[in-house]
Amino acid sequence: MNLLLLDPAEIGADGVVALSDARARHLIAVLGVAPGRRVRAGRLDGPLGEAEVLDAAADAGRVRLRVRFAGEPPPRPAVDLILALPRPKVLKRLWAPLAAAGVARVFIVNAAKVERMYFDSDALDPALVRVRLIEGLAQAGDTRVPEVAVRRRLKPFVEDELGPAPADGERRIAAHPRAGSRVADRVRAGERVVLAVGPEGGWTDYELDLLARHGFAPVSMGARVLRSDHAALALLALVRDAQGFAMDSGRRGGPE
Ligand code: SAH
Repeated sequence: MNLLLLDPAEIGADGVVALSDARARHLIAVLGVAPGRRVRAGRLDGPLGEAEVLDAAADAGRVRLRVRFAGEPPPRPAVDLILALPRPKVLKRLWAPLAAAGVARVFIVNAAKVERMYFDSDALDPALVRVRLIEGLAQAGDTRVPEVAVRRRLKPFVEDELGPAPADGERRIAAHPRAGSRVADRVRAGERVVLAVGPEGGWTDYELDLLARHGFAPVSMGARVLRSDHAALALLALVRDAQGFAMDSGRRGGPE
């Protein structure tokens, strides 16, 4: 946990927060906090700031802190992910690292090679998804919870919701091992990106064609085929690199 993330509802009018959950245990057992200690904090979907420990009851696993936040919330990452629904076990493990890697929106979509019954799994349960996303944000030092939407029909989603072509300053890319170009060939610094990652069995020719007709340029990471969850994380890193990012680790990173 590199950032103590708090829900606005947890914060009293006086800025005091009382914790007795996993975050309190982390503050006590891992960080060994004592009164007066300050830790980095953030308000979910709000600004970053710091929290000062008022008291810590190690035996009871309770910590009280006073929080102070300043400025604007961090900007949302400039990338949306379209992900063909993976196996539930895989998806459950993917939410936290996706949020850590940085995505504004995740569209979970159907594809020809997706098992229909996966859509009924608890890997898509909004409460579970939110907990896992927040875990990833606490890791990466961000407060902006990615939006997650499920679209069970790929064609109307692409045709009607995304529309025929990307907006100005937006780039659409579809990941496919046998594509002829790289992420860096397609994404320019400062562009927003919509990235489509296929199911474990891959995109069909029909799906690749549907995406291509709506402005998605095929991109590859080479002939080494990764599992789709690993591919999604690797591609997000390549996208972020191609977009260019501020070297802000001094301000936001660092172990706590
Ligand atoms: N047998 C499938 C592999 C699918 S891998 C095929 O040959 O198409 C699952 C998804 O992960 C792919 O649809 C793609 O979106 C992404 N992926 C995996 N490895 C990749 C690579 N080397 N380059 C680009 N995308 C990759």
